[in-house]
Amino acid sequence: MAVKRRLFCYHSRQSPFFLAKNGLTMAMRFCTNCGQPLTQEIPPLDNRVRDVCHACGTIHYENPKIVVCSIPYIKTARGIEVLLCLRAIEPRDNYWTLPGGFMETKETTEEAAVRETLEEAGCAVTTGALFALMNLAVYEQVHLFYLAEMKEARFAAGEESRDVKLFTEAEIPWDRLAFSTISHALRYFFDDLKQGILENGRFSVHTIDLSR
Ligand SMILES: [Zn+2]
Repeated sequence: MAVKRRLFCYHSRQSPFFLAKNGLTMAMRFCTNCGQPLTQEIPPLDNRVRDVCHACGTIHYENPKIVVCSIPYIKTARGIEVLLCLRAIEPRDNYWTLPGGFMETKETTEEAAVRETLEEAGCAVTTGALFALMNLAVYEQVHLFYLAEMKEARFAAGEESRDVKLFTEAEIPWDRLAFSTISHALRYFFDDLKQGILENGRFSVHTIDLSR
């Protein structure tokens, strides 16, 4: 089976050309199981190049990461308001986002949405329906968005947030949103609100491919 070398550094994701020009070298990878160097090859019965350890026989598969976000909302005298966090970390420090983050092992997607909302926005929610699924294949991620009704208008900025605030649709800072995923989710949400989804519960999960 043909052995292919990857054309970028595993750690910096830069090409050998870029690295050489900047006085850097390709990073070597080692087996997390036994510490021996890995080779890149297509294992038997497979069709993709993997990191293979010939010392202990481990094949290191790389799979997409799942990011789970909530759309925390509450009905107030001003209408339906959505809770956004002002990021305190890179990337996109000082831009607004919905609470969310990488799913941890041994938790469900709903538990991840509740946990992230509590950690980033100090807000207790119960998750409702899965609202949107976004594929970001180039970034090796899948993003899920859950509707999340706030039990009460209580929230506080967590360590990764500078501020947390409720916004009506008219107040959403569209040009200050951290990621395109967030603006898509919010546009879908406010469009569906006009169709009465909170009253009739009828909507289709929004799916979108953002990276091709
Ligand atoms: Zn090994």
